[in-house]
Amino acid sequence: MDQRLLTDLKAAIRSIPDYPKPGIVFRDITTLLGDARAFRRAVDELVHPFAGGRVDKVAGIEARGFILGGAIAHQLSSGFVPIRKKGKLPHETVRIAYSLEYGVDEMEIHTDAIGQDERVILVDDLIATGGTAVAATQLLRQMGAKIVAACFIIDLPDLGGAQKLRDLGVEVRSLVSFE
Ligand code: AMP
Repeated sequence: MDQRLLTDLKAAIRSIPDYPKPGIVFRDITTLLGDARAFRRAVDELVHPFAGGRVDKVAGIEARGFILGGAIAHQLSSGFVPIRKKGKLPHETVRIAYSLEYGVDEMEIHTDAIGQDERVILVDDLIATGGTAVAATQLLRQMGAKIVAACFIIDLPDLGGAQKLRDLGVEVRSLVSFE
């Protein structure tokens, strides 16, 4: 990737120390999303390996994965499917539990959201430990999806999440990393 683009995208992300708790640096993409050029270029860069190939659905993880996933789906002329925290989707769902730093949470997808062998791109803003994306991968595969790739603006490689996805055979695409 063009070094200048990478520097520009990184500069468009705001870092907030000690949020939501001491010791965490929150990587805030709202500043990137609010910058028309950075938003456009981030989406273009994430999708370009997949343009022209068949992608049936883009699955976005609540909540920032919805914003990026919607833009990516539009760009690829794919459908969009939300993966939500439990209790938010109105129709019949498939649910999976996953571990957070403290405790567990659950995410859901509509049972009719993905058809057998549909080609799906998974999207979120950031991958850290990979707990969220690995659970989403399992959920999508349970539904018969073929995961074309998982796309993130930000990777925190020290936390190993991207490697966990690769170990599951998922192609991972990210634009910017923070140590
Ligand atoms: P993980 O499951 O550990 O890979 O965490 C990924 C999820 O948590 C994503 O949905 C991110 O939006 C959020 N997240 C984790 N760490 C951060 C961080 N340092 N800054 C912003 N969001 C984060």
